[in-house]
Amino acid sequence: MNDSDAHLIEVEGLRKSFGDTEVLKDVGFAADAGTCTVLLGPSGSGKTTVLRSLNVLETPDGGLVRIGAASVDFDNPSPLKSARRTEVAALRARSGMVFQAHHLFPHKTVIGNLVEGPIQVQGRDRAEAEADARVLLEQVGLAGRETAYPAELSGGQQQRVGIARALALKPDVVLLDEPTSALDPELVGEVLAVIRDLSEQGWTMVIVTHEVRFAQDVADQVLFLHDGVVAERGGAEVLTDPREERTQQFLRRVL
Ligand code: ADP
Repeated sequence: MNDSDAHLIEVEGLRKSFGDTEVLKDVGFAADAGTCTVLLGPSGSGKTTVLRSLNVLETPDGGLVRIGAASVDFDNPSPLKSARRTEVAALRARSGMVFQAHHLFPHKTVIGNLVEGPIQVQGRDRAEAEADARVLLEQVGLAGRETAYPAELSGGQQQRVGIARALALKPDVVLLDEPTSALDPELVGEVLAVIRDLSEQGWTMVIVTHEVRFAQDVADQVLFLHDGVVAERGGAEVLTDPREERTQQFLRRVL
């Protein structure tokens, strides 16, 4: 096994345009299992597009995405449509996405929301899926709220259910797209605390966030995006000691 095989996530030469706008010009990075990668950068720099490309919610125009044994080479797509679909499905199954707004099913209970994917998508046994869901609810601080409906929960609790729902599919990687930006300020802390706990438990995460202080706490790797490229990368220390001028400017603005 060479070095690159050891990374759980590998992204190379990712490109994406929307119309005439080249949003991702050449994005590459790697991340190891059990680590937390934080994507930072100005609004419009392409952070969300990178995250959505990892599970092909956006289809990149070029580049390669690999998570574990599943990979899609967007420069050399399989000529057969059915083979392309199979490759994309295999890559998608490796990650779970937590969105800005939680998108819970309003007519299902908390536990109903958690077991929907495992039962419907993964064909898992209901009793087993429910037992796993109870463990996850405890981990996100919602033990005892199994039979509540989303509308009966606070925004922070709803987002914690959203996180548990992503984990219920047992993904290799959890992708979080600005998970606290839709919350009232007083609810942000409880959600960040849950994400920090899950990271400490060893979940592999890639997070887009504007919470720089939180990033300082949890990030094993920080990627600064600027104009569709990774302008600077490093450990959490780059947040306090960035080398690049545009990274310094960005941090001056947000801190
Ligand atoms: P960030 O997360 O850093 O704010 P995004 O990846 O969301 O950046 O977006 C980068 C740029 O791409 C923005 O200018 C945005 O308007 C544009 N964009 C993103 N998604 C779409 C889309 N589906 N259609 C058209 N433009 C898009």
